Amino acid sequence: MNTVTRFAPSPTGTLHVGNIRTAVHNWLLAQKNGGRFLLRIDDTDSARSREEYVEAIRADLAWLGLHPDGEERQSARLALYEEAFERLRAAGRVYRCYETAQELDLKRKVALGRGLPPVYDRAALKLTEADHAAKAAAGEAPHWRFLLDHDEPIRWDDGVRGPQKFDPAQMSDPVIRRADGSWLYMLPSVIDDIAMGVTDVLRGEDHVSNTATQIQMFTALDTAPPHFAHEALLVGSEGKLSKRLGSLGVAAFRERGIEPQALVALLARLGTSQPVEAIADRAVLAETFNLSTFGRAPARFDEEELARLNTALIHAMPYADVAGRLPPGMDEAAWLTIRPNVAVLADAADWWRIVTGPVAAPVLGEDDRAFLAQAAATLSDSGADWAALTGALKEATGRKGKALFLPLRLALTGRDHGPDMASLLPLIGADEARARLEQAARAG
Ligand code: GLU
Repeated sequence: MNTVTRFAPSPTGTLHVGNIRTAVHNWLLAQKNGGRFLLRIDDTDSARSREEYVEAIRADLAWLGLHPDGEERQSARLALYEEAFERLRAAGRVYRCYETAQELDLKRKVALGRGLPPVYDRAALKLTEADHAAKAAAGEAPHWRFLLDHDEPIRWDDGVRGPQKFDPAQMSDPVIRRADGSWLYMLPSVIDDIAMGVTDVLRGEDHVSNTATQIQMFTALDTAPPHFAHEALLVGSEGKLSKRLGSLGVAAFRERGIEPQALVALLARLGTSQPVEAIADRAVLAETFNLSTFGRAPARFDEEELARLNTALIHAMPYADVAGRLPPGMDEAAWLTIRPNVAVLADAADWWRIVTGPVAAPVLGEDDRAFLAQAAATLSDSGADWAALTGALKEATGRKGKALFLPLRLALTGRDHGPDMASLLPLIGADEARARLEQAARAG
């Protein structure tokens, strides 16, 4: 069977790093098995869903390079839900209820007070047709619950957590449909997973108890449930479920100069027993993706680790991958010279400005200024050849090491550190370099 995974965000906000991680894993799982990765927009909650978030989700996935092989949206599939609902209704697997939120809350408190689990007591199941008719006559519309089968424990072999077992008698029959006819998440998700041919549901462990319920829904709809896997949640580097992670999304990463490759490489392996490495090649990440390496402990998301990985990936980036984002005129030789000195790609523009000039003349002592005047003269013979220039100067002046190199670097770049001068000098060019040496020799 061909693997089909899906990423099913609700467009009630932008994606945060936890959602992005789920998307990355579903994408990798599909890639590894030569399968398909689908995007499903869970927009049954029309009050909270917004079109701008749908667009932002698509744009974020595109930026991450996680291109879906198909997209569905729940708001366009209501007829499908209606049809499945009618089947469940005919089979007696859904039932009408009228309790208000306050009544349910009271029932829960009473149960807890008696030391019982706060499970819905199925009082509405006892209503007769006459009772329902009376409610209807009084203008009371029902909401609907799914009737759990209490006969047997619910079991599945979770891809991350191993064998799972739930006692349905300890669970409330879930409300699946509101009195106004709108849908809650639980049932439409199952109907869609069936219709979309989803073979693997990989999501956060906050969905484990939903899975127990949904397995019964698959069975009630005469379909074998997909494979389920629930990954441990992400926590901040300080080890706590941080609020901050909830607001950390693609916009924040882009602003910080994080490349999608870095985020994907980190999230692919964070919380697994495999090392997080600067792997730009998605095929390698997909081949090595393995649910059995996922740990049960929360995965720690460390922004400094991300920044380090980002820099390591940039240092290996070929020119073709970045050309469109470099300043005009910055060619491959310049990129390869500057690349080792950038932490984020935007730094390349700063170094490029140093190549193109002007640079501020450093404040130097008389000795150094005399030395630079000599360097300017020497450059007329050596040209933009760093080895020739410094070799000649060393011989003529007896300077070596820092005394030889630092005044030259300061005069040529205005900084005391930076890219390899042997590569940088030809980029600056002999005429401009001579002008900078002369300027530094005059300044004081
Ligand atoms: N829309 C649900 C959520 O955002 C999807 C959960 C699922 O993967 O089934 O949590």
